[in-house]
Amino acid sequence: MTDAAQMPVVGMAGGGQLARMTQQAAIALGVSLRVLAKDPADSAARVVADARIGDDAALADLMDFAKGCAVVTFDHEHVPGAHIQAVVDSGVPCRPGPEALRHAQDKLVMREKLAALGAPCPAFAHLPAENAAAALEAFVAEHGWPVVLKATRGGYDGKGVWVLKAMDTALVERLLAEGVDLMAEAFVPFRRELAALVARSPHGQGAAYPIVETVQEDGICVETITPAPGLSGDRAAEAQHLALDIADKLGVTGLLAVELFETDEGLLVNELAMRPHNSGHWTIEGARTSQFEQHLRAVLDLPLGSTEPTAPYTVMANVLGGDDPALYPRYLHVMAHDPAVKVHFYGKDVRPGRKIGHVTALGDTLAEVRERARHAADYLRWGPEMKDKR
Ligand code: ADP
Repeated sequence: MTDAAQMPVVGMAGGGQLARMTQQAAIALGVSLRVLAKDPADSAARVVADARIGDDAALADLMDFAKGCAVVTFDHEHVPGAHIQAVVDSGVPCRPGPEALRHAQDKLVMREKLAALGAPCPAFAHLPAENAAAALEAFVAEHGWPVVLKATRGGYDGKGVWVLKAMDTALVERLLAEGVDLMAEAFVPFRRELAALVARSPHGQGAAYPIVETVQEDGICVETITPAPGLSGDRAAEAQHLALDIADKLGVTGLLAVELFETDEGLLVNELAMRPHNSGHWTIEGARTSQFEQHLRAVLDLPLGSTEPTAPYTVMANVLGGDDPALYPRYLHVMAHDPAVKVHFYGKDVRPGRKIGHVTALGDTLAEVRERARHAADYLRWGPEMKDKR
C-alpha cells in the first residue's frame, strides 16, 4: 500500500494501552503507527492495522519491525539498550535514544545521574549482591527506618518496591536468590505525589503541562487531579523547570514524566518515565494537545502543541477490574448518569485489580469533578454494589 501523502511511519515497540491511545492521535495527524506487540489480543494490536507480532526484547524481531519506520519509540521501558542501539546503527532513529532511556530503565542509574546533576532526590544506596545485608545495615545506621527497598530494574505499579520497617533478611535473601538487583532509599514522608509531564524534541524545543497530583493505592495510580490543588505558582513553575531541565540534561526526546514527592521541605524526584504516562491521560480531553499527540510530534521533530488546559479542573480516574468480566452493560448507567464523563476502555480482559481503562471529568468545581470521575470509575468496577465497596 503506498501512502499518497508521504506521511511518515512511526514504530512503537509495545502493544499496551499507551500504544493504543497513541493510535488515536496518529489517526488525527494522518501519521501511520506501527506497533510491535507480543500477542494479537494485546490492547494496541486490536486497533492498529499495522500491528506486527513479535518480541521487542528479541533483536531480530525489533530490527524487522524497525525497517521502513521514520522513527521508533516505545510504550514501555523494557527493550534492551543494546538492541535499541542496533536499530539506531541500522539508520532508524530511536526516540528516546538508548543513552537517555537507561535512566528510565534502571532506578540506580537514574538516581546516580540525578544526584550528579544536583536534582533533589531521596538518599539512596546500591545493595550489591555480595554484601547486600551489610550495605543495608550501613544505610539504616545513617538514615534510620523505614527503608524503601527497590528492584533497580523491571518494576511497575509498585511491583519491585518494598517498604521495610525493620530488617527482613528473608525477603532480601529471596530477592537476591531470584537475581534481583537491589537498592535502598530513605523513606520519604511525603505530603502527596505530583507528576511533571514535559515533552522535548530533537531540536531542543520543550513544552510543559500543568502539574498533576497523583493519588496511588497499593502502588497503582487511581486518580489524577489537574492542576494539583493548592500548589503555589512558584512551586508549579519549579516542578516544570526541574522536568524540562532533566529532559534537556538527559537528552530526552519525546515525553518525559517526572514523578515527584512533595514534602514539607520541597520537591524530590521519585521516578522518570520516557513515554506517555498514566499521569497524562487527562490531557486527551483536558489539554489542547494530548500527551499522545505531543509524543508523536516530539519524536517526529515537529513543533510541539499547546499544553493549555481546556477546563479549570480535570480529574482522571483509572478503572480497575472488578469481579464481573462484563463491563459493557455498565456503560448504560455511567453514560446516563453523566453525559459529560468520558470513558476510555483499553480492550483488555477484566481481571480483579487490573487497570482496564480510565474515565475523565472536567469542570469548574474540584469536589464535583472528582465525585463525577470517582462515581464513573467505581460503577464500572463494581456496578450497583459500588456503595458497599467504596
Ligand atoms: P514503580 O516503578 O513500581 O512505579 P516507584 O519507585 O514509583 O515504583 O514506587 C511506587 C510507589 O512507592 C510510589 O508511588 C510511592 O508511593 C512509594 N515510594 C517509592 N519510593 C518511595 C520513597 N523513597 N519513600 C516513600 N515512598 C516511596
